[in-house]
Amino acid sequence: SPGSVSSDQTPNTSNSLPPAVHSGERANATFITLARNNDIWEIAKSIRQVEDRFNRKFNYDWVFLNDKPFDAQFKKITTALVSGNTKYGLIPKEHWSFPDWIDQDKAKKVREDMAQRKIIYGDSVSYRHMCRFESGFFFHHPLLLDYEYYWRVEPSIELYCDVDYDVFRFMRDNKKKYGFVLSLYEYVETIPTLWDSVKAFMKEYPQHIHKDNAMAFLSDDDGNTYNHCHYWSNFEVGSLDFWRGQAYTDFFNKLDHDGGFFYERWGDAPVHSIAAGLLMSKDEIHFFNDIAYYHVPFTHCPTTESDRIKLKCTCNPKDNFDWKGYSCTSRHFDVMGLEKPDGYQNQMD
Ligand code: GDP
Ligand code: MN
Repeated sequence: SPGSVSSDQTPNTSNSLPPAVHSGERANATFITLARNNDIWEIAKSIRQVEDRFNRKFNYDWVFLNDKPFDAQFKKITTALVSGNTKYGLIPKEHWSFPDWIDQDKAKKVREDMAQRKIIYGDSVSYRHMCRFESGFFFHHPLLLDYEYYWRVEPSIELYCDVDYDVFRFMRDNKKKYGFVLSLYEYVETIPTLWDSVKAFMKEYPQHIHKDNAMAFLSDDDGNTYNHCHYWSNFEVGSLDFWRGQAYTDFFNKLDHDGGFFYERWGDAPVHSIAAGLLMSKDEIHFFNDIAYYHVPFTHCPTTESDRIKLKCTCNPKDNFDWKGYSCTSRHFDVMGLEKPDGYQNQMD
């Protein structure tokens, strides 16, 4: 009868993984999510979007990390949603605590002061541990040591267009080490002395500064001051090997010892961005125009209509942040010598 399912079409109700739509070789890569157990429903939505738009065709693994053990519900629901293998890791205490050189009283006074000044997350200890972990440690977690590339996914994000090619193989085949979708200016109150530490690092380790770097993205006066531009790190596709390398290790250790993760509120976004901008060749940094993305409160939507049609996008082009005054993406195009897409002037306000 109409609507009935004949036996050879019976849906597969076992737990075996569905076959990949795209055949062929995979890169050595995984998704990474840092989350708490109570993020489950917000991360479930993010996973569903990533699977529908990309990963159901590629079946990459997904690593979940947490400073507390994941509960059974979190594991059950995320495993059901991910088409690749899921892995769940506990963050070691040393990667989520105050290092012994930090003056606890000084750090506490900073938090009280920032709370009064209403600086976002200014009073939070856990947010600082999170930023330090994302800056210096996630790529050292034992579950990530065998992988070369990662794509970071946060709770409550949206993907608005199909991604029909293998993003990780793109990174590998084109020798890219850092990919982003949104860029903007950092709140200066959270990083008043970050650039002083960066300058001290550059002096101490000139051998780590890439000769073809993207300093012009970060500074308008050839490195004297920071213009606060950074890539937004809640989305990242990148090379784990880069973060694990000597240049970034020296960079992170310098910053960590200067204490700004606790005496200020340094975010992992400016830390990663400055490292990418100075320690990589600028050609190793990639703007994923074709990955349309939302994380509150900003949207990246491809500027050009033919791209949006081809990729089955559902974002409103008016929401595209790329060419607005608070975005740094126009500067990225200038630094890279890229031509801006048709119609960008219409999206400037
Ligand atoms: P925002 O995007 O800067 O507003 O910060 P989020 O609240 O989204 O946190 C950034 C990421 O870290 C998200 O993936 C969160 O799930 C995760 N995160 C934040 N705080 C904690 C925490 O205390 N523990 C764990 N396990 N994850 C956290
Ligand atoms: Mn977030």
